[in-house]
Amino acid sequence: MIAASDYYNFDDLLTSEEKALRMKVRECMEKEVAPIMAEYWEKAEFPFDVIPKLGSLRVAGGTIKGYGCPGLSLTGSAIATAEMARVDASCSTFILVHSSLAMLTIALCGSEVQKEKYLPSLAQLNTVACWALTEPDYGSDASSLRTTATKVKGGWILDGQKRWIGNSTFADVLVVFARNTITNQINGYIVKKNAPGLKATKIENKIGLRMVQNGDILLNKVFVPDEDRLPGVNSFQDTSKVLAVSRVMVAWQPIGISMGVYDMCHRYLKERKQFGAPLAAFQINQEKLIRMLANVQAMVLMGWRLCKLYESGKMTAGQASLGKAWITLKARETVALGRELLGGNGILADFLVAKAFCDLEPIYTYEGTYEINSLVAGREVTGVASFKPSASSQRSRL
Ligand SMILES: Cc1cc2nc3c(=O)[nH]c(=O)nc-3n(C[C@H](O)[C@H](O)[C@H](O)COP(=O)(O)OP(=O)(O)OC[C@H]3O[C@@H](n4cnc5c(N)ncnc54)[C@H](O)[C@@H]3O)c2cc1C
Repeated sequence: MIAASDYYNFDDLLTSEEKALRMKVRECMEKEVAPIMAEYWEKAEFPFDVIPKLGSLRVAGGTIKGYGCPGLSLTGSAIATAEMARVDASCSTFILVHSSLAMLTIALCGSEVQKEKYLPSLAQLNTVACWALTEPDYGSDASSLRTTATKVKGGWILDGQKRWIGNSTFADVLVVFARNTITNQINGYIVKKNAPGLKATKIENKIGLRMVQNGDILLNKVFVPDEDRLPGVNSFQDTSKVLAVSRVMVAWQPIGISMGVYDMCHRYLKERKQFGAPLAAFQINQEKLIRMLANVQAMVLMGWRLCKLYESGKMTAGQASLGKAWITLKARETVALGRELLGGNGILADFLVAKAFCDLEPIYTYEGTYEINSLVAGREVTGVASFKPSASSQRSRL
């Protein structure tokens, strides 16, 4: 069960609970998901039969305490994310959207009644959630979103469009952000599946994370009762406490993907022979393998340090952004090297590496692109926001 990618004995930095969780997730992913993932990825379908198995891992809800949630350490939650991504990035994205975005928003910004009502079933994965911020015209600049929430008797009317929303084609619970037409501020709402006026259409032809069902959402005068407005979301800034945690979690996906690609390549180079020798015997292949291995060790240590900063209450938004940006950058290099090492088999989804290579691309872009996360860190270290080139004096809303 020891992975070749764990060269610097990362386990030594984990508590016994975190180590046990790591092994439990690894075993489930290798046994239940690895055999079927290439087929589902190829079909661009989600393997719904896997949901109860992921539910039994007790990782949904991550760090949330109470309400039937596991109350893991951030490090434990992060290593579970990496172990999922090591085998299949789509499964880890499914859980991250559900847990680190939607459930965490309800936990941090919801009322007691909302938490009691929604979290226990989401924690068991008996119900599935999604998190809808991005719009067709507002991606990186999500704080300018245009979906409106208009107050009416007993509730709110939501009107607008959302794009790219993971799990949205089948989610039971949709956490939706909209602009309050009275205050002009961003508010959060819980919308239920089958609400009249709600329509989610699957986005086809993705080249990465093909098992994740990303949707275009249309909200046509969707009524949300007052009890389903999240009282803790009163401006865009309120989403940042959720995004700070979820960015750390997302940073652990490329770590896991890189671990998986390294482990696959390490095995493959020893098994496949050319010119009468295993591929591992060629110097240039060893150099590539070692560059990948070094990247994995550095990524793990950066990710681990981010978790510790967060757990001690010291992590800044810039630190989380730097981690997400730099780790995805290094992971891109790592999977590209892995793809080369497998030769022709490096472009076949069946061999994990090509699939992981493609899956990394959306992760490079979502949860803040590489560029935007770099600029968030850049703003923190220089004190100057550079998001709007001609308006440096304006306060950035990112
Ligand atoms: C597979 C997938 C899953 C996703 N899941 C979700 C989800 O569940 N929920 C959700 O709400 N969203 C989701 N997203 C949306 C995701 O967060 C956005 O795609 C992301 O924020 C980038 O927005 P955009 O695609 O509109 O790119 P754009 O904002 O159009 O950016 C295009 C390019 O311009 C650059 N750029 C933009 N603005 C600046 C600037 N000011 N300075 C410098 N460079 C800039 C970007 O870095 C990028 O390289 C998902 C996206 C993908 C691909």
